[in-house]
Amino acid sequence: MIERAPNQFELSPEEQEMIDLLKKEMGLSSTEDVMQALMRQAVQRVSITCPNCGHYAHITKEDKAECSSCLSIITLSEDLWDASRLPKLK
Ligand SMILES: [Zn+2]
Repeated sequence: MIERAPNQFELSPEEQEMIDLLKKEMGLSSTEDVMQALMRQAVQRVSITCPNCGHYAHITKEDKAECSSCLSIITLSEDLWDASRLPKLK
């Protein structure tokens, strides 16, 4: 069995082609950079930054997000994300 670095994984030729294209488009030099950039973009669509602890809070509904780090429930009101249930502070 060949041991690989834990953060490496096999890409199919088609996937590698996509990565190469994105590399050019995004002006990045490595596959890892592309993956990280894509991940950041993707996570921004499904999460917000928790106003209480700064971790990612998963958007569970259009106007609601839950932080799994501090267990805050954050709701969207007037285009602003608000932590409606504050955890015990300090
Ligand atoms: Zn939090």
